Amino acid sequence: MAKPKYKLSDTRNIGIMAHIDAGKTTTTERILYYTGKTHKIGEVHEGAATMDWMVQEQERGVTITSAATTCFWNKDGKDYRIQIIDTPGHVDFTAEVERCLRVLDGAVAVFDAVAGVQPQSETVWRQASTFNVPRIAFINKYDRVGADFFNAIETMKDRLDANAVAAQVPMGAEDNFWGVIDLVTMTAWDFKADAKGMTYPEPMDEIPAEFADIAATKREELLDAAASFDDELMEKILMEEDFTVEELKAALRKGVLANELNLVFVGSAYKNKGVQELLDAVVDYLPSPIDVEAVTGTDPDTGEEIERHPSFDEPFSGLVFKIMTDPFVGKLTYVRVYSGRAESGSYVVNASNGQRERLGRILEMNAAERIDRDDACAGDIVACVGFKNSTTGDTLCSEGKEIVLEKIEFAKPVIDVA
Ligand code: GDP
Repeated sequence: MAKPKYKLSDTRNIGIMAHIDAGKTTTTERILYYTGKTHKIGEVHEGAATMDWMVQEQERGVTITSAATTCFWNKDGKDYRIQIIDTPGHVDFTAEVERCLRVLDGAVAVFDAVAGVQPQSETVWRQASTFNVPRIAFINKYDRVGADFFNAIETMKDRLDANAVAAQVPMGAEDNFWGVIDLVTMTAWDFKADAKGMTYPEPMDEIPAEFADIAATKREELLDAAASFDDELMEKILMEEDFTVEELKAALRKGVLANELNLVFVGSAYKNKGVQELLDAVVDYLPSPIDVEAVTGTDPDTGEEIERHPSFDEPFSGLVFKIMTDPFVGKLTYVRVYSGRAESGSYVVNASNGQRERLGRILEMNAAERIDRDDACAGDIVACVGFKNSTTGDTLCSEGKEIVLEKIEFAKPVIDVA
């Protein structure tokens, strides 16, 4: 077999969680815009008409409603695959929400910069905590009158009990929100708008004097948080020795992955500000499939607990998490693959009902198009065409290596005693 298409360490499977109206859709759209743009470096014609962009956006609009959308973010010269899994908007603790949280490895929680944490976001946040989903936060709508980044962070601490720590300091506010200071690198970024009103951050020579104090104070708080996750870094900070940006990032990442730290970022999705920095943060701090513990399930015959590790060499295992109808290809069965590798044309077993399924056509639901894949590998989120016997919650596996990932709870039988 050829080498797998993607490296596990370069993949991020994330959900975007938000209270209705906080800006989940707008943030997702902007992520798809910016990722599409960077990935097509060299293909994008400079000065492309606004109309082209809008048509493209409308086409993408179709895929935003997809259960999962794959996009690529180029950071420091390297492409990362980001698979955005749609999280249900409703808040009841249903199997659907649970399944969705199980399928993603990390999440971005979007809050409104004026309202801060709202009641509905508390429920979603707690569900994510129950399922141990590491999260970073995006305080959106910083262009709105009354927006307050640090107050929004306080509401995360008060209402969510989150160890929420600012990773940025915004420069300007409301209509005049013009840049951010990255507290990890201590670089100030000036948002420069292009002709279409899309902004691109440009590094400044130094942090503007009026923001120097607040940046220094918030940097201290960030360093304190980082030090608590890394003894060596703590030692260096106490001894006032030098440490690298990479060391600081690694300590912060440890905190996020342990689910004990929530780094907070700021922006305005609507005004195209802060979204690229957020994408960098997804890559820097949220887990890749190999950072996540092995999945556990049960042997359908013996009931014994089995583990599957995120590796291409393990037996195949994947969870069906959504079934949708696509206007062009028909029924799509969305599968999160946890381990192993299965080629298109081969068969897998549905361990939940013992039926075989043929992987007739495997699709990667890319932001702009559907791509045919030769295989489905650990870490992938793919849509399978032509499945007959699988429903959401079912586990697909290699034949002879059955595992059931999701417990099936049967309704209690009604016993007629008459
Ligand atoms: P969702 O319900 O969380 O998906 O939220 P939407 O993305 O649909 O946004 C809800 C409303 O807020 C829409 O009218 C958006 O245009 C608006 N909105 C989203 N992001 C921003 C922002 O950054 N600033 C402002 N002022 N409005 C925003």
